[in-house]
Amino acid sequence: MFICVHCGKECLTIQSHRGHERLCPKNPNRVYKSQTVGLTAWNKGLTKGTDTRVAAYGETKALANKPATGCCAWTAEQRTNAAKEQGFGGYRANAGNRSGITGGSTPPLTTQLMPS
Ligand SMILES: [Zn+2]
Repeated sequence: MFICVHCGKECLTIQSHRGHERLCPKNPNRVYKSQTVGLTAWNKGLTKGTDTRVAAYGETKALANKPATGCCAWTAEQRTNAAKEQGFGGYRANAGNRSGITGGSTPPLTTQLMPS
């Protein structure tokens, strides 16, 4: 465990420790400059009425958030029927058993391979 000399934070690796200590908020000698502080976003103050780019991405977002209609939209009944046809849910015996070994009827593979 590596501990920051400035704030006492515990770091898991020497790399994270070095990276943290260099930019630790309590490090008096840190050289850190935010790249976004003092800058203004390109679309600040613009609306779909005043800027075509803002209007364009607004339309794209509206399209993406539109609920599915037509062939893609299933009713609750359609979903129920599809689930019943395809057998969703419920108990299936040995569904997670890929080795083919079932509850103690055959010995484990390791003992089968070992000479007795
Ligand atoms: Zn620190």
